[in-house]
Amino acid sequence: MVRVRFAPSPTGFLHIGAARTCFFNWLYARSHNGTFILRIEDTDVARSSAEMSEGIIQGLRWLGLDWDEGPVFQSQRLPLYRLKAKELVEKGLAYTCYCTPEEIQERTKKTEGAGDFWGYDRFCLELSEKQRLRFDSEGRAKAVRFLVPDGAIRYTDRIHGDISIDSKNIEDFVLLRGDGLPTYHLSVVVDDIDSQISLVLRGDDHISNTPKQILLYQAFGAKPPKFAHLALILGPDKKKLSKRHGGISVLEFRDHGYLPLAFLNFLAQMSWSPGEEKIYTLEELVGRFALNKVSKGSPVFDLYKLEWLNGRLISNLSALELSPLVRKEMQSANLWQETFAAEQKPWFDKMINLLKERSRTICAFPKAALPFLVDEITYDPAGVEKHLMDERLDTLLPLLAKDFQTLDEFSVLEIERTLRRRAEEEGVKAALLIHALRMLVVGEPVSPSIFDVMELAGKEKTLKRMNRLSDARKLAEKKGEEHE
Ligand code: GLU
Repeated sequence: MVRVRFAPSPTGFLHIGAARTCFFNWLYARSHNGTFILRIEDTDVARSSAEMSEGIIQGLRWLGLDWDEGPVFQSQRLPLYRLKAKELVEKGLAYTCYCTPEEIQERTKKTEGAGDFWGYDRFCLELSEKQRLRFDSEGRAKAVRFLVPDGAIRYTDRIHGDISIDSKNIEDFVLLRGDGLPTYHLSVVVDDIDSQISLVLRGDDHISNTPKQILLYQAFGAKPPKFAHLALILGPDKKKLSKRHGGISVLEFRDHGYLPLAFLNFLAQMSWSPGEEKIYTLEELVGRFALNKVSKGSPVFDLYKLEWLNGRLISNLSALELSPLVRKEMQSANLWQETFAAEQKPWFDKMINLLKERSRTICAFPKAALPFLVDEITYDPAGVEKHLMDERLDTLLPLLAKDFQTLDEFSVLEIERTLRRRAEEEGVKAALLIHALRMLVVGEPVSPSIFDVMELAGKEKTLKRMNRLSDARKLAEKKGEEHE
């Protein structure tokens, strides 16, 4: 029976590393007909917040990673952890500790260099009844420490292979703090036992915690689950992900116009290769996922790859699927008109279909749509310099405009045929006219096919813009001067 969990601490947002941990647990559960549990590890009251929990849940919902049980909030289970700590004390596997951090520090300082042990000195392990009563009467806070047994701890990490650690390198760690709150080790093991977790799949940053947790399983008389640790995602500089390189909330990727499926494909293709580079459906990813395919090495965050995948997905989607997303972007850019959802809908869908081929994010749509929506466009000065300065255009463009004027049907086919004929008659390359038209109609040296663009812009807009050759030249000149 496969049971896995994602157990974020709401002390920060859902970043890309946590999203990958969650996704891989989800994939593992779905590919084994297992159960996926969401557990919020919010026992660190000072650093956790309800907003962070809400943000994490919102991020998971956006990604479409649904859970079968939970969310379980650890903060609602504190009595259980206390009971479990008590159980270990009663069995002689843990003990009460009255030491203050200052006292521990003081003693450690004194014994420094005296031996190679560095951890807690077990001062409270064998306190006399008298000492105990004295400490109690002083009103000292009582922690519970785990009595780490001697011996080696061995386990096979499903990604990293065999791991062995001598317990002499582990100090008697705290299970319950003086304030009665459990430490991460206690709550995580109690809950994983309680939820019958069969595989703990989490980030590499927890690899050093696993031996301690295995000892706790043994102390509770429970069989440890399997463990697998995912290598940390690094930035392009091979360092920990910084904000600049994707170390941001998953919801920010949403706000930057990325789509959940592209984001999930990115996470998958960063850590294992499901096959050729393309967008896979979630079902395909579930079918192809296997823990032993996941790489041991740290994947590197590559924004270009994410953009590329997102662009692929956008171009695969239909206007029907894209229009609600594009609509939202247009609304926030103040470009939305209700007619786009009514009488102009066929035209609007056609525009989406044209623009989707070159849009890497949903946020790119409003800017790309601008030439179709406004009267005045701006001109890219370098593009003007390159494509609009040829003097032949002064006579060619009015001729071509006249040709267009006579067209009954301003369609891609007719526009292209007319343009090529005129170029041939005048003995110039069609490219001269194509580049010039692109600059005049769109204002940029790159755009979707100019014939499609002109059809979509319509005859009237196109002719008006063709008439602005000298304005475009002047405006670009002015802009160039400003930059000097
Ligand atoms: N709460 C821990 C974290 O957010 C994860 C615990 C675990 O997966 O064992 O890093």
